[in-house]
Amino acid sequence: MTKLFPHFPRQYARYFLLLLVPLVVLLPLPDFWITQLNYIGLYSLVAMGLVLLTGVGGLTSFGQAAFVGIGAYTSAYMTVNLGWSPWATIFVGMAICAVSALLVGWLTLRMSGHYLPLATIAWGLSLYYLMGNLDALGKYDGILGVPTLSLFGWDVGQGRPFFVLVWGTALCGAFALIHLLDSRTGRAIRALKSATQMAEAMGVNTLQHKVGIFLIAANYACVSGWLFAHFQRTVNPSPFSLKFGIEYLFMAVLGGVGHVWGAITGALFTKIMEDQLQVLLPKLIGTSGSYEVIVFGIMLVLVLKYLPDGAWSIVGHRFAVRQRVNNWFNAAPLPERSKPAMGEVVLEVSKVRKEFGGLVAVNDISFQVKAGQIVGLIGPNGAGKSTTFNLVTGVLGLTSGAVRFRGQDITGHSSREIATRGMSRTFQHVKMIPDMTVLENVALGAHLRGEAGAIKAMLRLDKDEERRLFREAARHLERIGMAEHMHDLAGNLAMGPQRLMEIARALCSDPALLLLDEPAAGLRHKEKQALAGVLRQLRSEGMSILLVEHDMDLVMDVTDHIVVMEFGTHLMEGTPAEVQASEKVRAAYLGTEH
Ligand code: ADP
Ligand code: MG
Repeated sequence: MTKLFPHFPRQYARYFLLLLVPLVVLLPLPDFWITQLNYIGLYSLVAMGLVLLTGVGGLTSFGQAAFVGIGAYTSAYMTVNLGWSPWATIFVGMAICAVSALLVGWLTLRMSGHYLPLATIAWGLSLYYLMGNLDALGKYDGILGVPTLSLFGWDVGQGRPFFVLVWGTALCGAFALIHLLDSRTGRAIRALKSATQMAEAMGVNTLQHKVGIFLIAANYACVSGWLFAHFQRTVNPSPFSLKFGIEYLFMAVLGGVGHVWGAITGALFTKIMEDQLQVLLPKLIGTSGSYEVIVFGIMLVLVLKYLPDGAWSIVGHRFAVRQRVNNWFNAAPLPERSKPAMGEVVLEVSKVRKEFGGLVAVNDISFQVKAGQIVGLIGPNGAGKSTTFNLVTGVLGLTSGAVRFRGQDITGHSSREIATRGMSRTFQHVKMIPDMTVLENVALGAHLRGEAGAIKAMLRLDKDEERRLFREAARHLERIGMAEHMHDLAGNLAMGPQRLMEIARALCSDPALLLLDEPAAGLRHKEKQALAGVLRQLRSEGMSILLVEHDMDLVMDVTDHIVVMEFGTHLMEGTPAEVQASEKVRAAYLGTEH
């Protein structure tokens, strides 16, 4: 493609697939195959929703068939009984799907991830029986005589025109998802599976994003159901049963739950296999029945064991979500928050306490950080430094005590609220999204400085903001000496650079206070020196920093003030010189470390 059109940007190459769709129907394919491909397109749409929900978001749903049913039944009922145009009922169906997805999602997702699969099974079953028992919906016979889709009198609901409609929709759906995953909202979504704590600390409302992807997946299913109803010309409950809910999940897993194109691959394999097995198995077994389900079950186990990323991963690793923005150099800088004046008390920790059962991990600790100061928090392993960080940043709830930030009480606030006020942190055990680039990971730090949501991202209306976010991310990576790793996958970095990436991510949120938990662990000598330089530079710009660090040379070199902890208690505090001279501190370190 790029050879044919040398000036055509590569990232647009995929849109040529849209032109291929009408070309396929010109091929001398038998009608049977067009029909099969129409079904595959319909299934793909549902499976795509599951790629987002399960593959990317880590949330399993067996209930997608029920959402397909809502789309199908809403349109069937409204067109047959109320005389609506099918082009209007799609919106009603989507609204009903949205409301039910919000309800199911909101009720179950706030508890814990494990409730969702169970809840979706219950949801799938109850909707199936509802559809089968309501008189208005024709009970198990369903609704007959659903009108076909027509456009200016032209029947587009069958055969080849329907092929163009279905595959046009499916491809647009795929593009929308690809756009979404490569966006501000998408980066937050990609953090849901394994890094919610970090995402919350960057200001991401993870519950809202979980409900959001549940809603999007439901609406993909709904569109498929709407198309299905007008293609079949009749609806009844059986295609929306739990069996199909499981089959959709099978398609997504088979194709590769992490890849948008995996959804289409999975739908294709499943449909072809199903057709073959339905002919073959009854011959082998001697009686008729849906034995293909058994084969699917066995295959599901095998795929999960031997090909956990699905069939698409064999060819698809080259097509993983790719960040498209690269021309951020002239983007406008993001606005910055007003910073505290030099010397102003930024953080005031008063008698904070944390008990884990009988263990007092943090025992009534008090200290202050002033603007433009680097305060060190040191002490032997297990002294309670990281726990203190978690109390200050809202990752853990306090047993007692109070925390004030920039003059306001933030005791008991969530880490997301605290992030909003301008406190940012790194983690002792690096928390990142390994299959995202370093630049994207860092851009997640600027989450609160953007506002484009899912719909803007799907329609690619977020370009300007994306460029501004990436400009900021790149700026902090350069500043910290990580520019050369910008486009590496974060998971491929060595430990030292991973920590630097976390610092850049924290800086990207434009904080007034930075909390660094052992930033120099795993860094080489030169990297440590560079880090010290960056910390000094930040201080000279007025940044306040709370630093937990074991490298005493670095601590003594850069801090203005040091708080020493031992066994959860406050041992002493003072200037680096005072701490170095202290017998108590020496004893504490000698007592627990060699
Ligand atoms: P440091 O960062 O100073 O090395 P930590 O704050 O990680 O120390 O730990 C302080 C103490 O609290 C340790 O004894 C640790 O085992 C304990 N601790 C930390 N987190 C938990 C937890 N989630 N549950 C129970 N005990 C914990
Ligand atoms: Mg620690």
